[in-house]
Amino acid sequence: MDCIFCKIIKGEIPSKKVYEDENVLAFHDINPRAKTHIVVIPKEHIESAAAIDAQNACAAANVFTAIPKIARELGLENYRIINNCGEGAGQTVFHIHFHLLGGDLRDF
Ligand code: 5GP
Ligand code: ZN
Repeated sequence: MDCIFCKIIKGEIPSKKVYEDENVLAFHDINPRAKTHIVVIPKEHIESAAAIDAQNACAAANVFTAIPKIARELGLENYRIINNCGEGAGQTVFHIHFHLLGGDLRDF
């Protein structure tokens, strides 16, 4: 499967990892749009938030369990979580991911 994020999970494409467990990987976005910009992904390939169902919902739950740990590790007290679902909403990589943005986001 030709998926950039699956390749990052397999180590075929390098990334600046900040967190990894059995189900979740988090790494610095290659094109940061905030002081801290982390991409958090489940290791399971799911195309987008629109493909979440009762069977795979644990992948999303695992991401949201990891996010507070990642934020704590990075010293983020305030942060924003963004998911772009579908091309028209700005999704460019079709492996579900959540942008974790930190820094002063009031004017963002
Ligand atoms: P989307 O636009 O789909 O919501 O977000 C995809 C994100 O992945 C973008 O912010 C983009 O900068 C990031 N990205 C795309 N390719 C790579 C890559 O090879 N490495 C890293 N670290 N980030 C990537
Ligand atoms: Zn994938």
